[in-house]
Amino acid sequence: AAKAAGKNRLAAYEPRLASERHEHMRLASDLRRAVANNEFTVNYQPVVDLTSGRVTAVEALLRWSPDGRPVPPLDFIPIAEQYGLIVPIGAWVLRQACRDVRPWHDRFGISVTVNVSGRQLREPDFAQTVLSALRDADLPGSALILEITETVLVSSSTESDDVTVLLSALREEGVRVAVDDFGTGYSSLAYLRHLPVDILKIDRAFTPEGGMAEEMAFTRAIVELGNSLRLSSIAEAVETPEQAERLRELDCPQAQGYHFSRPLPAEDLTAVLNAGNGILHGIPTPA
Ligand code: C2E
Ligand code: MG
Ligand code: MG
Ligand code: MG
Repeated sequence: AAKAAGKNRLAAYEPRLASERHEHMRLASDLRRAVANNEFTVNYQPVVDLTSGRVTAVEALLRWSPDGRPVPPLDFIPIAEQYGLIVPIGAWVLRQACRDVRPWHDRFGISVTVNVSGRQLREPDFAQTVLSALRDADLPGSALILEITETVLVSSSTESDDVTVLLSALREEGVRVAVDDFGTGYSSLAYLRHLPVDILKIDRAFTPEGGMAEEMAFTRAIVELGNSLRLSSIAEAVETPEQAERLRELDCPQAQGYHFSRPLPAEDLTAVLNAGNGILHGIPTPA
């Protein structure tokens, strides 16, 4: 009986694993084709100064819609990382983002913030890739922020100090470093003391939902940590006027989220920025 049950278990698992692996391989070959054919686009989501409403930066978010059907980044980016394809894709995003932000930087002083995978940081010519993207767009280093997740920063910093050296070199060119998904990746804050970091992007898990005291205590603690370390925190996924108001009360300097704007194609964002003269107040509280 035990043998039969064991056999049944295998029968139930094997096809699923095999089809998952097959699915991943197909996705990887689609991605390889997408790199060759330039099938990607980038959308931009404004980051807003909570006091003035001024758009300080825009986050570059990769989009891929093979045959017109969008594939969520969280479905294809891990595969691109696994197969090393994130290196050429990421280099393309950097170049595109620097080119697209140029007019917004000239007119409104807006920076661009670009997500970077651990795999890209380990490429020996990563600094060159960044600096040439800036140079070719005729953009100063101060117009670029690199977003690196907390998990990647911590694991890189314990492996060796190569990443510290790399990020310090880029910072000398004015490039800033943001910790993405802050608060979810690691149980120790010690790395903040020795890694070169400028900005905390507070994960959506800490964007206050209902204003309950306990929930607010976590948000307040993280915002205060950022403020006392002189890091310019950005709260992620702010969806309502109430959330924006609570973050203002906690002295959180910046935020992004659907309340201010969804990620938009460059042309659409240009129209939004021009209409508001670089200011975004968000959707007003319903009367
Ligand atoms: P992330 O860097 O934390 O980006 C923020 C995500 O939150 C984006 O999802 C954005 O569309 C979404 N978002 C923004 N405002 C709101 C809101 O008010 N509510 C909710 N529910 N969500 C909001 P997206 O575009 O699907 O990207 C997912 C993740 O994929 C990103 O998370 C980032 O880790 C990764 N990613 C995106 N583009 C790139 C890229 O060019 N390179 C790399 N390496 N990763 C990227
Ligand atoms: Mg990000
Ligand atoms: Mg994030
Ligand atoms: Mg996130």
